[in-house]
Amino acid sequence: MGQIRLDSEVRFLPGVGPRRAEHLAQLGVHTVEELLEYVPFRHGYQGPQQPIGQLREGQSATVVGELVDVELRGRYPRRSLLGLLEDETGTCLVRWFNAPYLLDKLALGQRLRLHGKVKHYDELPQFVNPKLEILSDSEPAIQAERFEPVYPATAELSSRHIGRLVSTALAASLQQVREWYDPDLRRARQLVTRRWAIQHMHHPSCPKDIAQARRRLAYDELLLLQLAMALRRRRVAESAQACAIAVDDRLDARIRRRLPFSLTAAQERVIRQIVADLARTRPMNRLLQGDVGSGKTAVAIYAALAAVARGCQVAMMAPTEILADQHHHKISQYLQGSKVRWVLLRGGLTGSQRTQLLERIATGQVDMVVGTHALIQRDVRFNRLGLVIVDEQHRFGVAQRAVIRAKGIWPHYLVMTATPIPRTLALTVFGDLDVSVIDELPPGRQPIETRVIYPKQVPKAYEFVRGLLARGQQAYVVYPLLDESDASPLPAAAAELDRLAAGPFAGWPVGLLHGQMKPAQKQQVMAQFTSGRLAVLVATTVVEVGIDVPNATVMMVQNAERFGLSQLHQLRGRIGRGSERSYCLLVAGSNKHSADGRLSVLAKTSDGFQIAEEDLRLRGPGQVAGIRQHGLPELRVADLLRDAELLETARADARSIVEADGRLTEPKHAALRSAMIRRFGKKITLIDVA
Ligand code: ADP
Ligand code: MG
Repeated sequence: MGQIRLDSEVRFLPGVGPRRAEHLAQLGVHTVEELLEYVPFRHGYQGPQQPIGQLREGQSATVVGELVDVELRGRYPRRSLLGLLEDETGTCLVRWFNAPYLLDKLALGQRLRLHGKVKHYDELPQFVNPKLEILSDSEPAIQAERFEPVYPATAELSSRHIGRLVSTALAASLQQVREWYDPDLRRARQLVTRRWAIQHMHHPSCPKDIAQARRRLAYDELLLLQLAMALRRRRVAESAQACAIAVDDRLDARIRRRLPFSLTAAQERVIRQIVADLARTRPMNRLLQGDVGSGKTAVAIYAALAAVARGCQVAMMAPTEILADQHHHKISQYLQGSKVRWVLLRGGLTGSQRTQLLERIATGQVDMVVGTHALIQRDVRFNRLGLVIVDEQHRFGVAQRAVIRAKGIWPHYLVMTATPIPRTLALTVFGDLDVSVIDELPPGRQPIETRVIYPKQVPKAYEFVRGLLARGQQAYVVYPLLDESDASPLPAAAAELDRLAAGPFAGWPVGLLHGQMKPAQKQQVMAQFTSGRLAVLVATTVVEVGIDVPNATVMMVQNAERFGLSQLHQLRGRIGRGSERSYCLLVAGSNKHSADGRLSVLAKTSDGFQIAEEDLRLRGPGQVAGIRQHGLPELRVADLLRDAELLETARADARSIVEADGRLTEPKHAALRSAMIRRFGKKITLIDVA
């Protein structure tokens, strides 16, 4: 096996033919090294084997012996299979209930390994429904405790089989596994060597081995990701020039005069961070997180006005026409009477209107452009684009980000999101961005009262909502999207509209808003709701982001259990925007859902980050709002909850590695560099592969 290398294809391993190789490929394993890196997801514990003669009542034990008798006892349904197992030291009973199929598998003279609890019966030690393995004659006895790796398996390839192939691979090539880090870093981080980690991840001899191996491999995995992002950051810093936008006291005072309130401490802090970024010629690349209503737009306006004052153009983009419209509306309020020239570039313009607008943008007769992704379509040319502000970035693909930049200019870049993303997740998915957080709401906000509603309380809930309507307030009723399996092409909201209008809300003007409506239709409905002509807005999650109607004080969410917690939190941010007390009623689809406690998290806290952490814990990273679309990098070993600290360390280490050796060309980074190339392949334009 001397010729087998880490990068050899698995089919060159003894015991792996073309078919096996194909099965391994389905698991993402193509090379010997990838097989070594195919880590078990847990380890099954086996205690050391015990002589039967020394078994004690009540203990958990593993024994190996010869089956000397077996028969079916009793009558259905109390039927059991009774066997007698013998080794050199004694005899024990073994009894299986409800397992007549075992009768076919067992034969006298077989060697069996049993694991289970000992309970004496008729003076003899007895196992009831123990774990059973039928051993081949050559299977060695276990003298010590053992941790059996359990691998993610498929129908074609069992965990045991994978384990055997891994053992072959270890024997053939473990010695070729190279260390990635210099000894100082490894010692400072208290990491075992990579070779040791790989070996002991598969074949540990105690739980401590598993923990150490896992920690090392998790760090490796996180470091590679963070390294990729640190390299990308560095590359931008090196190659991209943005215009430096300096904010002095005079400009600061001038901008503040445009804001009708004084900023919160959190807004002040974030603005300081942004001002510092803008002053540099290195493009800002900042993610601004803040709960709904925390005042991100005001911060964005500040940055925009600074840019315009220094002769730059600003593009502000929202994920939908409605939101772009709202931004435009807000900007119009803030900028009334100023010299700033702003436009809304919306869909549905006539050809000549559009051409004219584009012309004005391209020649610099417009300072600020508000729109949707239409803004980054090819035909939009800017004259001197200095700042791009993106609202609700999780609706924007990474590819679109790239397009903005590919236009040959490197604007400063500010991304805003109302989806609180747990820090570990933000660092993993947006690791190349700097992160600012507004963690404080403007003063005078009424807290939103949130309740979980049991199905039988629904009529009372409607009554409560009607009470508020009678006082001149407005309501949202939100429905989840239908399952894709459902035959109806219309969202549940549409189907329910008539029922609501005729039943619980008879006599009140009820409107409908859903994602499949045309932009113009949507806008019309929104305008009706904003002006108060509609009392109730029945909607899908299109109300999720940005809509601002302070007079809407109550939101009913139907089948609330179908939403993620963060999503619900974001939804309820639509209310509590005025001076009246607001209510969020989470209607559970069943008693089980109202009782299981998940929804009540929302009743207990209004801290979006805490809620997002809970989502991460309960539903996993892929389910946290806004993350899935980004293609969460696959993590095999690391766990974003458990390894939060390790992630921070890896991030800091990655940044200092890149600071010291921006292209990973130093000899001591050779192994790391080839690991990077292997991990990211051609996708990585980050390293100039020389
Ligand atoms: P976000 O975009 O974060 O959801 P907005 O910027 O739309 O929040 O602000 C929500 C509301 O709070 C707006 O009506 C805005 O005018 C108001 N607001 C923002 N900042 C402050 C502040 N510092 N003091 C008082 N009101 C504020
Ligand atoms: Mg907003």
